[in-house]
Amino acid sequence: IKIFVPRDAAALSVGADEVAAAIASEAKKRKLQVEIVRNGSRGMLYLEPLVEVTTANGRVAYGPVAPSDVASLFDAGFLEGKAHALGHGLTEEIPYFKNQERLTFARCGITDPLSIEDYRSHGGFVGLAKALQMKPIDIVTEVTTSGLRGRGGAGFPTGIKWKTVHDLPAGEKYVACNADEGDSGTFADRMLMEGDPFCLIEGMTIAAIAGGAQKGYIYVRSEYPHSVHVLREAIEIARRANWLGDNIQGTKHSFDLFVRMGAGAYICGEETSMLESIEGKRGIVRYKPPIPAIEGLFGKPTIINNVMSFAAVPIIIDKGGEFYRDYGVGRSRGTLAFQIAGNIKQGGLVEKAFGVTTRQLIEDWGGGTATGRPVRAVQVGGPLGAYIPESKFDVPMDYEEFAKVDAMVGHGGLVVFDDTVDMAKQARFAMEFCTIESCGKCTPCRIGSTRGVEVIDKIIDDIDRTKNLALLEDLCVTMADGSLCAMGGLTPFPVMSAVRGFPEDFHKPSPNKF
Ligand code: SF4
Repeated sequence: IKIFVPRDAAALSVGADEVAAAIASEAKKRKLQVEIVRNGSRGMLYLEPLVEVTTANGRVAYGPVAPSDVASLFDAGFLEGKAHALGHGLTEEIPYFKNQERLTFARCGITDPLSIEDYRSHGGFVGLAKALQMKPIDIVTEVTTSGLRGRGGAGFPTGIKWKTVHDLPAGEKYVACNADEGDSGTFADRMLMEGDPFCLIEGMTIAAIAGGAQKGYIYVRSEYPHSVHVLREAIEIARRANWLGDNIQGTKHSFDLFVRMGAGAYICGEETSMLESIEGKRGIVRYKPPIPAIEGLFGKPTIINNVMSFAAVPIIIDKGGEFYRDYGVGRSRGTLAFQIAGNIKQGGLVEKAFGVTTRQLIEDWGGGTATGRPVRAVQVGGPLGAYIPESKFDVPMDYEEFAKVDAMVGHGGLVVFDDTVDMAKQARFAMEFCTIESCGKCTPCRIGSTRGVEVIDKIIDDIDRTKNLALLEDLCVTMADGSLCAMGGLTPFPVMSAVRGFPEDFHKPSPNKF
């Protein structure tokens, strides 16, 4: 009998290791033979630690399980999938899971992340095996056909980036994966790296073949030690199985992969800053041009994408660009891994085609707020994303539709707030975040954000409120127009979305005033 207990950091943080140990000890006590598999997470984080048992009908789920529940699970007959107060029936019939469209996360939570045999028996390396036999330009064409756009937040067409590197003369070239997932409320990259690391390795290797690169780097934030550990082990396993290294699977293609750990700066999620950091320098933004596709890592042509973009590639090559393009709306094709966090009852990851709405995500999947109070605002797209009021909850998740309402889909993170939130304080928080994380290279961001915090403080303290609101708006325009990168350029989004979407929070009488 196989029992699955996730090894994902989210599950570990709520006691998955202790649950696995309790199951092993209880089985021993009862003289029962069980095999405990440490899988990735299914993404229903509100049910973690989610224990699954294989039955003739499929896997049956129990959660959230505490070590103290284990004896009663055995008593109830959970090894045969029998009913228990923590039981949810067949995992894949749980509506939260069933109503998703899992392409990138198709294997996550199902396989043993470090079993290459498991990976292959669930469709792994089919895309790469095909790519090894394809002309590089045909791989680029397939990715272009799929309509895949950078999942890190910017939404730049992946095929164009790859073509730029492909078209440059053969020579030293690189692939770099941005796994510096620093946006508040996001965890999709981490979940994939810990739950299905071979998928990322496969996607990056396909990119290397397309672009003619010999070496790749995965830049992982230091806050993700489990991801670093799993990736390094997976890379070793892939090398031993000749899916990485020289003459992959007996072909002329060679590619090797290395993991680099960041040191905790948000700005290293900006692609040129990340390149500086991989090169061993301080993470500071580079001027563009030259674009990294032409002069990237060590001054050489480099394909840079984030984890989600690379991880989407194996299925695109396996099933074809048109298969992937059939999901989504408008120019936003395929699926996005939405991450629902903050004040939410059922937090977790929902992979869904573009076009789903904020309301569907927070109500149908999230089940409303954890506090049970009405939702007042949702910040979509990380700390540089807009705070969306209820009136915009029905705008479809689509890069262009969100841009029309001065918001951005970004990396797909949603942070939910109930009606007790003070949006003036959230505006201050957004501006303060910029003062802390600014790399300091340009004035509008470095100085502007500090002045911005001071101005918001005056507004909160009701000092010349009308004049200071106008000053804040003026400052935001300067930051948006004059900053070198998205850090300073996008900070005005959350700030001004709070001012415009929730004006009452900026006009109420100060509690300090008599
Ligand atoms: Fe650095 Fe901010 Fe300028 Fe970006 S906008 S280059 S983070 S100072």
